[in-house]
Amino acid sequence: MNYILAAPAIPSLPVIGSDQRFPVRRVFCIGRNYAEHAREMGATVDKAAPMFFCKPADAVVADGADVPYPTATADLHHEVEMVVALGAGGRELEPAAAAALVWGYGVGLDLTRRDLQAQAKAKGHPWDVAKAFDHSAPVSALRPAAQASVDADTVLRLHVNDELRQQARLGEMIHDVPHILAALSRLFELKPGDLVFTGTPAGVAALQRGDRFHAELVGVAELAGQIV
Ligand code: MN
Repeated sequence: MNYILAAPAIPSLPVIGSDQRFPVRRVFCIGRNYAEHAREMGATVDKAAPMFFCKPADAVVADGADVPYPTATADLHHEVEMVVALGAGGRELEPAAAAALVWGYGVGLDLTRRDLQAQAKAKGHPWDVAKAFDHSAPVSALRPAAQASVDADTVLRLHVNDELRQQARLGEMIHDVPHILAALSRLFELKPGDLVFTGTPAGVAALQRGDRFHAELVGVAELAGQIV
């Protein structure tokens, strides 16, 4: 192809147990998917209407890499989340068919400029500057679903500087993965390479420069890094 600029590299993630990488196409996120987190944010949950937002694919940061503290905020928050990686696409799917799109699992941080999000909520503005900034999506290496044991008792947790900040069972999710993907597929045609952040449990809090984070989807994937 004869582009006028150097074409950007395709963001990608390592695959556990493989030399191959997973190419990231888009990053979708669901909000308010754990009741205790919705409560701590003072939000109400509409179970019939899951709430979605997006991050750019090149916001993904790989395991072990430093995460620069973002500009324009004084309140960077962590949100630990299970991430599902899609190996196939589709639109207007039923939950059972949507579940079959899942290729693998990881764990990520939906980093959030909480002060800008509060301003956006107050003004009725979009969340992009609060959620979709550079380096806002650290994600672990991905484990293929065929080699992963993920169920309602799988534990999601985050330590910051060896202090436990967030912990939940996946069974606490309001919308499970098949229903998240089915709802998304009615809004977007899902594609292979899409990542979906599946919501954070209670305990979100601030990160400072120098903080070291360690996120786990226990027995499946781990993510470590430092805010610099
Ligand atoms: Mn989130």
